This record gives sequence, C-alpha cells and structure tokens, in this order.
Amino acid sequence: MLKVHGRTGYYQHGCRCDVCCEAAERNRAKNRANRAASRAIRLDPEPMIAFMRDKYDQRGLPRDRMFERWRRTGLSIWECDRYCVKYGIHPLELYPYEFYKGCA
Ligand SMILES: [Zn+2]
Repeated sequence: MLKVHGRTGYYQHGCRCDVCCEAAERNRAKNRANRAASRAIRLDPEPMIAFMRDKYDQRGLPRDRMFERWRRTGLSIWECDRYCVKYGIHPLELYPYEFYKGCA
C-alpha cells in the first residue's frame, strides 16, 4: 500500500485511486494554464530579426516572410527560444526581461 497519495502516487507509483487521479488532473490543468499564459506573450521581433539578419546575411538565407509574420503577430517565446538555441545564444541575451517573464 502507498503511504502518500497525490501527484507523486500517480506519477511515480502508478496509483489510480481517486485522490491520485484528482491530483494528477489538477497538475495537468495547471500546466495547460501555464502554457496558455506563455502563448499569450508576444515579444517584439525586432531584436531577433536584427540578430538573425546578421547571421543569415553571412549564409545567404534571408527569411523575410517569417520576419513579416513576426512583425504581424509578434514573436512567441518558443520560436524565440528555438532560433536562439540554433545560433548558440541564450534568449536572455536578446530579451533580458520579456523572455524571463514568459518562462515564469
Ligand atoms: Zn492513490
């Protein structure tokens, strides 16, 4: 028998009693809410565009259509993270405050 029921019971011990299932569902709801809040954050794309133009100019690969979309919709923190990782910088180097807010 499990001594402690809840999220840990559900994820680590595979318990499916009511207490553990409800705790897991609360956890999933919290994660959904966090993702929705992160999606709502839109960064100013200009620092990213300037950075990427610099990189792409060296490799001859302009991404003007993507940049246009970013200017229309703003830059999501996921796209920001993806391209920063690709070019070996940390998102905080381009977005000292906004990116941090998106990850909080
Ligand atoms: Zn349980």
